[in-house]
Amino acid sequence: VPPPPSPDGATPAMVQWFALKKQEPDALLFFRMGDFYELFFGDAETAALALDIALTTRGKHGGEPISMCGVPVAAAQAYLARLIRRGFRVAVAEQTQSAPKPGEKPLKGPLNRAIVRLVTPGTLTEEELLEAGRQNLLLALARPSHGRRGGSDQIGAAWIDISTGVFETQAISHDALGELLGRLDPAEILADAALVPPDFAPRLAPSVVVPTADKAAADIARAFDVAQAGVLGDFKEEETIAAAMALGYVRRSQAGAMPRLSRPISQGETGVLGLDPSTRASLDLLSGRDGTTTHSLFEAVCRTSSAAGSRLLAAWIAGPTTDIALIAQRQAAWRWLADRPELRASVAQLLRRVPDIARALGRMSAGRGQPRDLAAIRDALESANAFVVLLQPLCSSETPGFIRDINAGLYGRADALLDRLTAALADELPARLDDGGVIAAGFDADLDRYRALRDDSRKLIAALQARYAETFGIPNLKIRHHAQLGYVMEVAAGMATRLKAHAELSFRQGTASLARFSTPELAELDRAILDAGERASVLERQIFNGLVAQAVAHEALPEIAEMFALADVVQSAAHLAQGGDWCCPEVTDDQSFELRQCRHPVVEAALDRQTRFIPNDCRLPPEHRVMLLTGPNMAGKSTFLRQTALAVILAQAGLPVPAEKARIGVVDRLFSRVGAADDLARGRSTFMVEMTETAAILRQAGPRSLVVVDEIGRGTATLDGLAIAWATLEALHSQLGSRTIFATHFHELGTLTDSMPRLTPYTMAVREWQGKVIFQHEVRSGSARKSWGVHVAQLAGVPEPVVRRAGRLLAALEREHTLQRPTLPLFDQTGKSEPHVAVDPLRAELEGIDPDALSPREALQMLYSLKKLM
Ligand code: ADP
Repeated sequence: VPPPPSPDGATPAMVQWFALKKQEPDALLFFRMGDFYELFFGDAETAALALDIALTTRGKHGGEPISMCGVPVAAAQAYLARLIRRGFRVAVAEQTQSAPKPGEKPLKGPLNRAIVRLVTPGTLTEEELLEAGRQNLLLALARPSHGRRGGSDQIGAAWIDISTGVFETQAISHDALGELLGRLDPAEILADAALVPPDFAPRLAPSVVVPTADKAAADIARAFDVAQAGVLGDFKEEETIAAAMALGYVRRSQAGAMPRLSRPISQGETGVLGLDPSTRASLDLLSGRDGTTTHSLFEAVCRTSSAAGSRLLAAWIAGPTTDIALIAQRQAAWRWLADRPELRASVAQLLRRVPDIARALGRMSAGRGQPRDLAAIRDALESANAFVVLLQPLCSSETPGFIRDINAGLYGRADALLDRLTAALADELPARLDDGGVIAAGFDADLDRYRALRDDSRKLIAALQARYAETFGIPNLKIRHHAQLGYVMEVAAGMATRLKAHAELSFRQGTASLARFSTPELAELDRAILDAGERASVLERQIFNGLVAQAVAHEALPEIAEMFALADVVQSAAHLAQGGDWCCPEVTDDQSFELRQCRHPVVEAALDRQTRFIPNDCRLPPEHRVMLLTGPNMAGKSTFLRQTALAVILAQAGLPVPAEKARIGVVDRLFSRVGAADDLARGRSTFMVEMTETAAILRQAGPRSLVVVDEIGRGTATLDGLAIAWATLEALHSQLGSRTIFATHFHELGTLTDSMPRLTPYTMAVREWQGKVIFQHEVRSGSARKSWGVHVAQLAGVPEPVVRRAGRLLAALEREHTLQRPTLPLFDQTGKSEPHVAVDPLRAELEGIDPDALSPREALQMLYSLKKLM
């Protein structure tokens, strides 16, 4: 956002613009003028470009024309959405004074205006700007105020979803920041830029205010109306600072009107399965590579009925836990429901009709509630009762805890509010409060009276029209309401002269075809109607605001919203489990690992009907916890690696797993490096990225971790790569003790089982048929005898002569490069001896030559190149 010019010599309206712009210099200023939001100066140029709308000028400033563009108020949401998506912030300035009515004294200066809202990516409540099934988080990060001296290098994190009122904090180490960012995927970040990795830099908010620790604690205490922030929970200093930063930003964005937020809840330090950003990137948890949800794990397991349920399910998948008791609780709930298919179907159907009350509450508490938001609360409360009718009779002390929680959380919690809303809201609600008719007849006696007065007066008008028609002898005389004149009598222009003679008629306006007159009676009625109408709408607004305040203040509503979301996720999991293809995994406290007939849910869903997905077993018991997987490209290695990682994610999210049976010793950190890492945009070569990621695993993985890696060492020369793969495998096997699946095209590594007792070689089954390769997608024990790369090249359509030549070269190379075990000392704990590998490139090249296939010219070139190898 470009800075504005100097305000000197501005017109009165522009003086106001400059003052408001100064309040939010980093935002585009939407300046309300009548039915438009106008933008000026650099804001106008930026917005016109971003929105592709016309740029004009209006008046002059400092001798130069002022650039201007505008968007109609009625369509503002769509334009806002586009600007926010492109990373802009928008300050909305409204007229806080109404324009003078016809007949009232005109104002001296411009109407008063004030910024009523700062719209930023992390502080949205508008339904049009939010994605229904996703959280929209604002994240604040803070370092403790004692900083370097204090010795703590912890970072305080606090995140808020103002559309639902979620408010959570956590103190984390610097190393865990990447994981946290990946898990939360915040829409906007408040932090010192130095703290945030470059990938997330575009989401940083400009100009962040960091309070002192004391001020932060006082702010939090005041916001939640407690004596001390400590009352709310055990927060580290840096968590409190981060929480106050987030809170302050929300307050600023809502121009002081604080939305309802839950009390901040500290997440503690443990309990979350560690997933670093590369692991997340390789697993497509919430969205696929194309950025949509279509090929994601989320999509493959989502059977929810409501947006709130989808949000909670996404949060479970993004943040699996290591808390075995919590996993067991989730499992017990959906297993119970899976055993009751009819109940589950009814629950799913009921939930489909439950409105998104968390977001309705968010809008109402931000002062942007509309009639349908109150209707949402009413309908949700009705559904809560219907829910309890289903659940209550089935609840006993045997019922799983979560099911009882849902029942108790929904049982008769807000009956008084429900009664009141049912009585208050009209059957047919208008879209906007301003349209009137929100409050039902019979709810408020005064309102009924004003409305009757207004409507009776309308009847009087009709009667008057008939009377005037007769009195003046003009049958097609009409009484109409006119924006400036109020109620007037309208006749054909030809009648005007005749009527002007009547004393009680005053001529108001004439056109070529019409003449308009008013009468004292009409003027009086006009005033009465206006008056009654105005009183009715003022009172209606008052009643509406009262109901909104009551709903926002009601303590049970956020919990009801949570229980509906929980019920939906439980229902979704039960639905998956009911088909019989998904099992309930046993998550244990040991290091066992066994998946029987496991599948990749996303690949399986993407296969066409004729192709069957081949399930595979995966066993990594402590005595064979490292699996070495060889096999050609396209044989299904990456699929197998990913499905194993996904099984862990699902199991520890407390969800069903696509397998016949699963037993998983709880995993503390999951490392997945599968698929081409493409980081060239950041100027790092593929090999550099690969090694950085390998380094991260070797530094962080431990005995409770699961590591699945594909093709370590592929990014460099063969021998380099083999050496690195070998050393990495040894470290994982002998030092870190992680459960590991190591996929490689170096089938030579399969011979290392003597020196690595816990290493078991497996290979992807491949058959050769009529000289062609057939992939069976089956994991078998043993090593690949050959790499099939040449066959795959043929399959891909590489021309026949090249394939044949490659085949011959391969035969020659293989003879030379077969690992001579004695020349390659095995892993050495002291690390003293270095592997020594003897290769003779000259010999390899010579062996690859097929003299009959060479032209004389090629033969000569070959001689030159052989000479170079000496
Ligand atoms: P690799 O990593 O060995 O190159 P992939 O895992 O990418 O191979 O698998 C290649 C393709 O084979 C996949 O896109 C999928 O269509 C198919 N495939 C993989 N595993 C299976 C399986 N178990 N059953 C059926 N088809 C599979």
